[in-house]
Amino acid sequence: MLNLIFLGPPGAGKGTQAQRLARRFAIPQLSTGDILRRAVADRMPLGKQANALMDAGKLVPDEVVNGIVDEALARPEAERGFLLDGFPRTVAQATALDEMLARRGRKIDYVLNLDVPTDVLVDRLSGRLNCPKDGSVYHLRTNPPKRPGLCDRDDTPLVQRPDDKPEAVRRRLAEYENKTALLTDYYKPRGVLRTIEGVGTPDEVEGRIVSSLRDNLTTGPANP
Ligand code: ADP
Ligand code: ADP
Repeated sequence: MLNLIFLGPPGAGKGTQAQRLARRFAIPQLSTGDILRRAVADRMPLGKQANALMDAGKLVPDEVVNGIVDEALARPEAERGFLLDGFPRTVAQATALDEMLARRGRKIDYVLNLDVPTDVLVDRLSGRLNCPKDGSVYHLRTNPPKRPGLCDRDDTPLVQRPDDKPEAVRRRLAEYENKTALLTDYYKPRGVLRTIEGVGTPDEVEGRIVSSLRDNLTTGPANP
């Protein structure tokens, strides 16, 4: 069982690394952003409520995302562990998560905090391309798809997220600074926080994450 959280500003590489680790450790990636975007695309009531806030780069209310996560944790595939990407983003969400886990007799093993300077974040977000179907992430320059504009895995046309436009990016970075950055103080006293240098190739960053886990895990990836 391996219960992980990815922390870090928009564009830090949480989604990219979460997809890699989810495959490596065979645990589900629970991305609140992906779940919300799917709800918007499917015109679910949940999506209607979230859509305008997301496009403006503002956070969706805690109760909404807490409910999404509680539901995701209840699924059988999360029994072996999970990788939360984009949640928690506020202290209230972190407290709610502690309660959800305590109810299930579980706890967070590691909080992986990706550290990336703001100018690199802005560059990454301005060139990000997403597969709306499977959540794969590309970058026009640093990680282009094999065929321009199409997902490598399922040929779906890639899209630029509406909130990756400059004004929404500015708002999201401010939301991160005001509400999410202080979560490192929330987790530090528990000894679960691992801050990882997020600049370098995706392979290099993954290597740093895996070695920070290996230093601490008694069970290997084959038996998480
Ligand atoms: P987050 O989920 O933290 O917002 P993403 O994983 O979506 O971040 O990555 C943001 C953008 O940066 C994407 O375009 C992605 O392809 C690119 N990217 C991710 N990791 C790296 C890296 N190590 N080096 C260069 N670009 C990266
Ligand atoms: P990024 O990958 O750039 O960090 P996400 O895909 O995680 O962005 O989130 C996109 C948007 O979805 C956020 O700007 C916010 O509107 C909403 N969202 C996702 N997760 C949360 C959360 N835990 N709390 C509140 N809003 C969230």
